[in-house]
Amino acid sequence: MSATTAQEIAAAVRSGERSAVEVVREHLDRVSAREGELHAFNLVLADEAVAAAEDVDRRVAAGEDPGPLAGVPIALKDNLATRGIPTTCSSKILADWRPPYDATVVTRLREAGAVFVGKTNLDEFAMGSSTENSAFGPSRNPHDPSRVPGGSSGGSAVAVAAGFASLALGSDTGGSIRQPAALCGVVGVKPTYGMVSRYGLVAFASSLDQIGPFTTTVADAALVLEVIGGHDPMDSTSIPQAAPALLDGLDRGVEGLRIGIVRELNDEGIDADVAGRVAEAAAALEAAGAIVGEASVPAATLGLSAYYLIAPAEASSNLARYDGIRYGLRVDGPTAGDVFERTRTAGFGAEVKRRIMLGTYALSAGYYDAYYGKALKVRTLILRDFAAAYEQFDLLLSPTSPCEAFKLGDKTADPLQMYMNDVCTIPSNLAGQPSVSVPFGTGDEGLPVGVQLMGPTLGEATMLRAAAVLEATAP
Ligand code: GLN
Repeated sequence: MSATTAQEIAAAVRSGERSAVEVVREHLDRVSAREGELHAFNLVLADEAVAAAEDVDRRVAAGEDPGPLAGVPIALKDNLATRGIPTTCSSKILADWRPPYDATVVTRLREAGAVFVGKTNLDEFAMGSSTENSAFGPSRNPHDPSRVPGGSSGGSAVAVAAGFASLALGSDTGGSIRQPAALCGVVGVKPTYGMVSRYGLVAFASSLDQIGPFTTTVADAALVLEVIGGHDPMDSTSIPQAAPALLDGLDRGVEGLRIGIVRELNDEGIDADVAGRVAEAAAALEAAGAIVGEASVPAATLGLSAYYLIAPAEASSNLARYDGIRYGLRVDGPTAGDVFERTRTAGFGAEVKRRIMLGTYALSAGYYDAYYGKALKVRTLILRDFAAAYEQFDLLLSPTSPCEAFKLGDKTADPLQMYMNDVCTIPSNLAGQPSVSVPFGTGDEGLPVGVQLMGPTLGEATMLRAAAVLEATAP
């Protein structure tokens, strides 16, 4: 594997074999070389990163152990609160906001010895699948800069794929970690809902949002989840149990595991080359000893419609706080109503406004039952169908994204076409269950393809074991 895995860096720094400063400079050099072209970051924290690395080196020299991520350069999606450091959500409305606190994941990474290299670009408020909805311009795919990196955590995926950071954090509400991971050829995990604290994650859709890692190896993803996972009293949705042990037993293989290819997520609307990779992934798992069959999750096909009611509904409520009064942008006016209206008109981009309108409509009197209420029923059906599938299978397999990375501008004219990117990733968000995208070869255009493994609630350990097999057998 690449010489820049987080595990390797941390081991070398902890043993004194490499200095954290040297490691971070190597990454910052790559940023200097390609960031102008790729735009992974809203903010590069070069001086802060070097200072943090110096501190790590001092501790090693003093005989201390800085932790399991000692000296590892990490990029943070710019919707994760960083104390005193701009946290913009790639929105004009928060362009100058400096949070007075750190997100729990940021604190945990820092305590594990990590070095933060920057805040990464995203679709505004994490709404999108290409980063083209960023108020600060799109990010570009390092494999072909005329193409999108996916989204909404596109900048984080680019940062890892281009070697700007050893790993990155993103957030995933409907696929925003897994889809860009697939399009950029890196590993991306959406953990079980409640496994990772969301304290300090700017909310998009609170019943769906989860934080997770982008890494170059499955083992690094396991390591990060061990560091950031586990109960946090500051997040009322946090599961009251310790972080899972994921590294131990990661190499146990898939002998005897029952893995189902989800029929409904593997036919219509999926490009043939992508479907072909999924079939090869299934064959690789079978060759490694898994029992592979066809699974059915009938309601999964309804996920997209349900999500695009539930997520905007929650977003319309969460985004009500950007009123020009409490924090962020303010455009003055004669009355409070004018301030709200002018601030929100100037501060939000077109997609965010579209979501707020969709969500407000879906929640309004007279339409609530027909739209929002119905979407919640579909969500229950999806949970039921997954539960039935997991009686027969330990894990489920599907594509991550229906296609390879597309050209910038290709899908911006038609929101529905953009939304279709999420068809395979949304079901596990609605179910609150874990899923991972693992790079598995390339498609017809020579660009990375990711395959998705899904597991039942808190099934991360088994899911990552199978992901490790796919990683080892990937073409
Ligand atoms: N692409 C999806 C959306 O636009 C998912 C975004 C996300 O997971 N944050 O809502």
